[in-house]
Amino acid sequence: MNAPNKSGWKPEMSPAEDGLHNGPATTTGNRALMLEEPLIFEIGHAETTGVDLPEIDPDAPNRLGGFERSKPIGLVGLTEPETVRHYTRLSRQNYGIDLGFFPLGSCTMKHNPRLNEKVARLPGFADIHPLAPQQTVQGALQVIHELGDWLMKLTGMPGVAMSPKAGAHGELCGILAIRAAHTARGDAREVVLVPESAHGTNPATAAFAGYKVEDIPATPEGRVDLEAIKARLAPDVAAVMITNPNTCGLFEKDFREIADAVHAVGGYVYCDGANFNAIVGRVRPGDLGVDAMHINLHKTFSTPHGGGGPGSGPVVFSEALKDFAPLPIVRKLQDGDGYELVEEEQREHRGQSFGRMTAFHGQMGMFTRALTYMLSHGADGLKQVSEDAVLNANYVLRSLEDILHAPFADSGPCMHEALFGDKDFEGGLSTLDLAKALIDEGYHPMTVYFPLVVHGAMLVEPTETESKAALDEFITAFRSVTERALAGDESMKQAPYYAPRRRLDETAAARKPKLAWEEPEG
Ligand SMILES: *Cc1c(COP(=O)(O)O)cnc(C)c1O
Repeated sequence: MNAPNKSGWKPEMSPAEDGLHNGPATTTGNRALMLEEPLIFEIGHAETTGVDLPEIDPDAPNRLGGFERSKPIGLVGLTEPETVRHYTRLSRQNYGIDLGFFPLGSCTMKHNPRLNEKVARLPGFADIHPLAPQQTVQGALQVIHELGDWLMKLTGMPGVAMSPKAGAHGELCGILAIRAAHTARGDAREVVLVPESAHGTNPATAAFAGYKVEDIPATPEGRVDLEAIKARLAPDVAAVMITNPNTCGLFEKDFREIADAVHAVGGYVYCDGANFNAIVGRVRPGDLGVDAMHINLHKTFSTPHGGGGPGSGPVVFSEALKDFAPLPIVRKLQDGDGYELVEEEQREHRGQSFGRMTAFHGQMGMFTRALTYMLSHGADGLKQVSEDAVLNANYVLRSLEDILHAPFADSGPCMHEALFGDKDFEGGLSTLDLAKALIDEGYHPMTVYFPLVVHGAMLVEPTETESKAALDEFITAFRSVTERALAGDESMKQAPYYAPRRRLDETAAARKPKLAWEEPEG
């Protein structure tokens, strides 16, 4: 640390104290090149700045019209090199897909090809403004149109909305279109059915849109209970929301039959398609009776995500719903030469759309990356993507099922993710301890305690971009921590030992986050 630490923070344990490094304690708290980094408030000063601004001319006219600040805002400044070091040091304490295998189930953390980045940075894409005149951004409109076209072909669905900005936003878009369709029929409905095996965003979306959410149980083999759905279907059901493949990593085999039954009572079928990466090129959701489905470009089509970064969740629609989709849409001009943004006034079926999802047109940077990914793979390549993702997940499942409880291993092959539970752990050890021990092995843990239908769930999604060698290394590490958990190895309760921070209070971090820095007293 090259600046005094105003809060008096010190490492939880010095290297000598924890007995693991066997070295002397350092005066800085650093461990060789693993550098400790105080908060920006602790190293910065209100008087420091990284830029030189010209002196204010006291006689210059005041153009702020009364909006000038009355007092300092209390932010500290750093010089430019201090700023660069601060954020670089912090970034070294983080873990990302460019650093190693990232088996976070349901999140699909796969390699982001650098070609995509190169294309997204072309000035013609990166430097345009959403209010630029349409004639000047024809290339960008073409990208949105072609990407939408690919999504409709891959899903076998005739409509698409490109503007939703993430998966959950896409769910809201789909449910709002469903509500608009019911409203147009003069058929207000109140209930959305959501199976237990659905992603948590599904019930949240339905509730946010004002629907009453009802649970549908899962069968012992981890799929939606067809009979339970059929028994509940009635004219008050607006829609069912089914994640397929589901969060147990299984394909919902009865999907077509469920869809037919829902349609028979006048409801719509929402499919959570965030796991499309498991079936792209192999299954067209349109053939299964889906009415609306979001696709996470940041999962299936490899655009970067994580840490709250930009996602993109376009929604595809069936014939029955496509006129209710949000605006604007990008349309090819009649004469085939160029593209235009279609707003309400230019629509064939006016007054049906439920409105807008966003101020503008969606995540342009993600569109360019996703289309680049599609064009570089081609349709056959995309099919191989899903096949390899499923193959890798099954390799993980079959390599660990002999020592780790795998609740649905007998339900047949898994799709893109392998699900385990903590059934036979000894000595009060649980999934959390295993996850923390995996950090010491150099891995970001898998998704834990989700889905809820499995005790101590561990959801591993290797994705297609990992080699067999990388998977073998992970499996070896996973087996070793599993063996320790089965043997009740007490030391796991203190893991991680080697991470920049030890165990954090995750509940307090989520429930009582301290988002503002306060000068410590004294
Ligand atoms: C990731 C995911 C979502 C939510 O997507 P966001 O882009 O994070 O909003 C929804 N459903 C499933 C099955 C997912 O895996």
